[in-house]
Amino acid sequence: MELTFLGTSAGVPCKSRNVTAMVFNPMNNAAQYWLFDCGEGTQHQMLHTVFNPGKLNKIFITHLHGDHIFGLPGLLCSRSMAGNENPLTVYGPAGIRQFIEMALQLSGSWTGFPLEIVEITAGEVFCDEEFRVTAYPLTHPVECYGYRIEQHDRPGALDASRLKAEGITPGPLFQQLKRGESVMLDDGRMINGQDYLGPARKGKTLAIFGDTGPTSAALTLASGVDVMVHETTLEAAMAEKANSRGHSTTVQAAEVARAAGVGRLVITHFSSRYDDAGCEALLRECREIFPDTIAAKDFMTVQI
Ligand SMILES: [Zn+2]
Ligand SMILES: [Zn+2]
Repeated sequence: MELTFLGTSAGVPCKSRNVTAMVFNPMNNAAQYWLFDCGEGTQHQMLHTVFNPGKLNKIFITHLHGDHIFGLPGLLCSRSMAGNENPLTVYGPAGIRQFIEMALQLSGSWTGFPLEIVEITAGEVFCDEEFRVTAYPLTHPVECYGYRIEQHDRPGALDASRLKAEGITPGPLFQQLKRGESVMLDDGRMINGQDYLGPARKGKTLAIFGDTGPTSAALTLASGVDVMVHETTLEAAMAEKANSRGHSTTVQAAEVARAAGVGRLVITHFSSRYDDAGCEALLRECREIFPDTIAAKDFMTVQI
């Protein structure tokens, strides 16, 4: 499971950083990807990666500020013009439907693939056999959400070599045993898959914050996650300015990471006032409070 940053600049792009977007590759199998936010130029950034928009099947939008959504119409149209017919679902706050439909309609565009738009509220957004995604309301001038992505716990690995040693040959039977079911063998033996499974593997967890000032929801959203992605728009000394605009500082993000007991903090959404050295200074401020912090860069991939 991995997360690739396509844009890490706040508000406006700069030469080395585009505006916000992240590709979540849930299965490491390149069969499907999710996108979190879609700032202007996201489709251009994708061209420099292995990620093909045709394989995006979910887009989660944190809020409707332009630096998080202005890339959507172009991406959707290009995905359609490339002949992709795979369905795509866009999740986002109220207004995301109107934005997409208006942009497509006024530009005489359409999508040649099934497009579902889901306007979300706080709570569970999506759940299937592999993942659960929950939205938490944040503190920002417009309705804004952070997403918690939880992979369900998975059964332990099947001890195939022990099965083979006992004369049980690989086949469809193994799939049943993998699910922990009991099966009857041709020779009349009854075996229980549970006896051949290793310990259950704990699902991974990830918290992706949208833009936000300090908020009480942060601790629940990020509680115990393996990786927490949080904005640090400004440095610690500019807390008043940051918070008055619904943004956080380095120290505020790091304090959330520490209090929520996360594994790793990834900071992003840096004001364009900071060059690379400035972002390094932001990183140092975080590490003083939460040492296991890394600063995102465009095209950086984080393993989860
Ligand atoms: Zn922003
Ligand atoms: Zn914003």
